[in-house]
Amino acid sequence: MCDRLRDASLMRGPIMASPSAPVAPGPVIAIHAGAGRLPVGAEGDERRRGLLDALAQAAGVLEGGGSALDGAQAAVAHMEDRVDLFNAGRGSVLCADGTVEMAAALMRGTDQAAGAVAAVSRIRQPVLGARAVLEGSPHVLMIGGAAEAVARDAGVEVADPSYFITDRQRARLREAGSTFEGGTVGAVCRDARGELAAATSTGGMRGQAPGRIGDSPLIVAGTWADRAVAVSCTGDGEVFIRVGVARLIAALVGSGCRWRRRRPRPSPASTPSAATAG
Ligand code: ASP
Repeated sequence: MCDRLRDASLMRGPIMASPSAPVAPGPVIAIHAGAGRLPVGAEGDERRRGLLDALAQAAGVLEGGGSALDGAQAAVAHMEDRVDLFNAGRGSVLCADGTVEMAAALMRGTDQAAGAVAAVSRIRQPVLGARAVLEGSPHVLMIGGAAEAVARDAGVEVADPSYFITDRQRARLREAGSTFEGGTVGAVCRDARGELAAATSTGGMRGQAPGRIGDSPLIVAGTWADRAVAVSCTGDGEVFIRVGVARLIAALVGSGCRWRRRRPRPSPASTPSAATAG
């Protein structure tokens, strides 16, 4: 991570992949499941398993010669379907009125093709809706019922909004406290051809106003990929939007800012909730 970005303390956990990063050639996958630390105990173990399974999904795609876009999508789609482990797909955090509004985006670095959906409550795996927008529409970002219609027309599985709402998230909404919930998911991949892609999916911030859209589905703010770098962010979306963090990282990488591994955290409960690679 760039020193300048670390000093700015603006974000909690962007990840990125870059063809020029100091790792062996070949496919690279980095995934995250939100800012903050993994919980200790059974829940943390379960989340770690979910992350490893998502890595395996993406690895299967890339090792089979698949594209970076397909790899990033596979990792995120897998995490969206792991109920109650992540803040994406079923089990997402709830809005203040108890409804669910999800968002997802993906972007391909070679041609900067991008697709995103926001304020959707019927697409089982929102990243597949984002892919439908990328492939099947001239647009980048679609919201609500219109986004759901594009997904449905593309054969993406839809569900009743009640499907996404779990008892666990109902209970969490009733608890007082922070609206920030880790568990937004993201992946960045470099495929065997050296091409890059990024994908991000979220239920947003717990207790958010219905209609609020965070950074995750916004290309430039929460998700970005070009020929040099792919970025998926997680943290307080309003900050990421104001600063245009994902694109800012790309600009810094483009200007020669060097990638560096994060130092391990000190405590035993410190397994990072964001894997980094590049
Ligand atoms: N960035 C997401 C949002 O603001 C939340 C998160 O990353 O957990 O909607």
